[in-house]
Amino acid sequence: MSPTRRDFLATSAAAVAGGMIGTPESALARQAQEPRGVFTPIRRNVGMFTMRGGTIGWLVNSDALLEVDSQFPAEAKVCIAGLNERSGSRPVDCLINTHHHGDHTGGNISFRGIAKHVVAQTMAAKHMHNPPGGQPPADQLYPDVTFDVVWATDAGDEKVTARHYGRAHTSGDITITFEQANVVHMGDLVFHRRHPVVDRAAGATLRGWAEVLSNVLADHPKDAIYIFGHAATGLQPIGTYTDLVRFHDYIEAVMAAVGSEVRAGRSRDEILAAREPLAGFEDYGPFGRPGAREVRTCAYEEIMTGA
Ligand SMILES: [Zn+2]
Repeated sequence: MSPTRRDFLATSAAAVAGGMIGTPESALARQAQEPRGVFTPIRRNVGMFTMRGGTIGWLVNSDALLEVDSQFPAEAKVCIAGLNERSGSRPVDCLINTHHHGDHTGGNISFRGIAKHVVAQTMAAKHMHNPPGGQPPADQLYPDVTFDVVWATDAGDEKVTARHYGRAHTSGDITITFEQANVVHMGDLVFHRRHPVVDRAAGATLRGWAEVLSNVLADHPKDAIYIFGHAATGLQPIGTYTDLVRFHDYIEAVMAAVGSEVRAGRSRDEILAAREPLAGFEDYGPFGRPGAREVRTCAYEEIMTGA
């Protein structure tokens, strides 16, 4: 049976509410600091796991076990243990990394001796070995299968297709489509109702990002369910066509707002110092935090250089 998203949200809300009844405040504070792993079935043997870091996607059927992204080592172990219960402890046929960032690949090491293959886009694999502006972890399980544009595999009665649409959040992002389930893992190509991380050093581009989202939408059925790497506090990292359109429109609105400030003759410092939320996208919050400021910086540089 495939519960609907509304069911999950209702269940999660009930569980949270139930857990809070009669709980002392200190215990509540501790619970808030110690994320628990949560498995959420989505549709036709595909689901997601949330704990700390980028959302993990999974497929468990009678012939295959596949995971998308790995969070961090301890979190990956919790995920592996939970999926073992569902799969009867079969090996992981493959672990797919959506891109190189540490909150999506830090747990790869926990898959050593467990995953038969680790799959990533060519640039993502390169960035895992040499993260722009950072250091690779002391020990890591790196991809042994890389591809440039499309990679596909049969997984029991499911077909899984990974696609690279071009530069966006980094230069190595991919989507992973579970074709039968009609579920798509977006990695960090969607930050759900919050300002995104824009990794310029690793090749990010806002113009490219908007185009990538348009192409993803064109390539998938309108009733596809999308898993997101991250969501605003209190929201589940999952959504629909409408949510992708909303994030696409947010990116275009950032470009348009910064573009009109440039045309109005405002200086670079004035433009980058702006904190007020984007008109029409107030739910994303102000631009005060460094990560959010970087979004405006990226827009400004793209407009000024035409790149
Ligand atoms: Zn990322």
